Amino acid sequence: MLTAYHPQSSKQVFAAEQSAANGPFFCPACGGELRIRKGLKRIHHFAHFPEKVCAYKGESQLHLRIKKQIYYSLLQELGNQVKDVSLEKMVNSIRPDVLVEGFKKNIGIEIQVTPLTPAELIRRTTAYYQQKIHVLWVLPFSAARFFAADDGQFQAVSLKEFELMLYYMNYKSLIFWDDTEKLSEGFIRIELKDIWQKPGSYYSIDWSTVIEFKSKKLKRKKMPSQIEYNLGLQKFTPVYAPPFQMPKKDYFLPRRFMMLKK
Ligand SMILES: [Zn+2]
Repeated sequence: MLTAYHPQSSKQVFAAEQSAANGPFFCPACGGELRIRKGLKRIHHFAHFPEKVCAYKGESQLHLRIKKQIYYSLLQELGNQVKDVSLEKMVNSIRPDVLVEGFKKNIGIEIQVTPLTPAELIRRTTAYYQQKIHVLWVLPFSAARFFAADDGQFQAVSLKEFELMLYYMNYKSLIFWDDTEKLSEGFIRIELKDIWQKPGSYYSIDWSTVIEFKSKKLKRKKMPSQIEYNLGLQKFTPVYAPPFQMPKKDYFLPRRFMMLKK
């Protein structure tokens, strides 16, 4: 975590501005004591003790880096136009990475670096809905994943299950952040299309019959069709989305508030 609760000052404090001597520091989610971790290369942060169980334990350096960049970028973009932009603020049982409190709507940024189970993604989506927070789910961007090394053209990508859920939640697009800042200083949005396997036929092993197969939609593999860089949060608009039956799955994506590109 980039921040912690500091009982001595009754405030949320930033790891970058603290030292171990100013402790103790605590996690606002689980109440556990946190250690401050600082180093030349590492992002300054607070860490749980190994034995502690907490949903916000063990964020990777990549996660912390993206969170820090999004926070400062949103402060710069929206600083004067909203009530507050905050890092790691607890809202009852949930804690978005970055929370934008507007005058009418609240927006939560959720950075997802490691896979989530479908149950956990559904639980968080419902919790945000109950708090009336519009969510923007953000994944780490990797150019090598979307562009072929040889010709630089789009290439098919295989989505993990939670990414496939986000893809449908986001009306067939995914939102990313490039932590290297080589390509963009804003959000990146990629539209992906279904891939249809061509119909065809082949001989059975003993060459006695021809087996035909129909055109079929690939489940996990999608083809990028459009990419937009440098999107500020103001390019997105808060919307309500109804429940959606996940294709070929036995569960629904719950009703939700989300941020959709205008
Ligand atoms: Zn905790």
